[in-house]
Amino acid sequence: MGVTRDVKNPYKRTIPQKISFRLRYYRQKAMEPIKWLAYTTHQTRLVPPPDHMYIESTNLCNLSCIMCPTGQKLITRPKGFMDFDLFKRIVDEMAPHVRRTTLHIWGEPLLHKRMPEMIAYAHSKGLQTEISSNATLLDEEKAYKLIESGLDVIYLAMDGLRPETYESVRVNADFERTNDNIRRFLQIKENLGFHRPFVKIQIIQMKQTLDEIEEFVRQWRIPGVDWINVKAFDSWGGQVESINELKAGESAPQIERYPCPNLWYHVHIYWDGSLAMCDRDFNLDFPLGNVKDGVMKAWNGPRMQELRRRHIEGRLDDVSPCNKCTEWAWWRPTLFSSQGNKLVNPNGEKNDNGERNYQVSKEEEP
Ligand code: SF4
Repeated sequence: MGVTRDVKNPYKRTIPQKISFRLRYYRQKAMEPIKWLAYTTHQTRLVPPPDHMYIESTNLCNLSCIMCPTGQKLITRPKGFMDFDLFKRIVDEMAPHVRRTTLHIWGEPLLHKRMPEMIAYAHSKGLQTEISSNATLLDEEKAYKLIESGLDVIYLAMDGLRPETYESVRVNADFERTNDNIRRFLQIKENLGFHRPFVKIQIIQMKQTLDEIEEFVRQWRIPGVDWINVKAFDSWGGQVESINELKAGESAPQIERYPCPNLWYHVHIYWDGSLAMCDRDFNLDFPLGNVKDGVMKAWNGPRMQELRRRHIEGRLDDVSPCNKCTEWAWWRPTLFSSQGNKLVNPNGEKNDNGERNYQVSKEEEP
């Protein structure tokens, strides 16, 4: 690693910014019971704005991971990168409402050449930003740029402790290189002395990784890491048999179906502006419109209303992938909480979806 650069701390806010973001936070908190009411009373038309926004910066990826429809070349919709102007329009409209934006859905976000600019733009509007990366492209330059941009949270995927395991899951990746990239990133963050980005080292629980998880959790308790995330296996709505077979461990107990909270709380926008129900509709089998004329217009547009109605009435037989999906049961909103996949216990106990999070540092997740 080269000499540590002088980096202006992007996480410092001016006093007017602090006041303005705090006021917005209270406004958003006050909206939570209203959202919950809209969800529990089955509103379909005038649904309040979502609180988490997922934006697909690109659906291209450099790997061929065995648990991923992108890696398995199953994505048939056009490939591309989100246009920066479209991104800015989306952020401008949604920043007053949304607390956090995740800048990836499918694809590797570090392939987008303007990723640091996208993060910096969202950050300047007071949005918390997060990305999940396979870390194969996380060289020193990118590491600095991500930190300089004001990124709040980064998931770094390292599926396996042994090179053979990792390379059999993350096909086309090189264990040593990814490992070096992650450790350099952590070192840069430590040298700069910033408390962010909040770093989550992630391993997906699946047949290939199961035996290594305990040791993985022990070995990654190192400076710079804030959490170790043992991610529940996502079957992507059970649509792909070869992916379903990778699941390890017991299935979650069956519970009575309720309308999927994603349709009231989380908005998913693909790189070309298409609105998706969630990432499991990776080929847009159930198109919901486009956000180019406004996110809220599409969020409460006729197709979205129809999908919500079908969930409420249980008419999902011809709605792919909701008809086969089990992941709707991963979370359920409450009056004051609408976070999906939420941490329940920092010492590694399972949460609703079977995910485990181990707290390593004393930092709180932003
Ligand atoms: S039911 Fe499943 S596929 Fe449908 S929106 Fe919810 S999580 Fe996505």
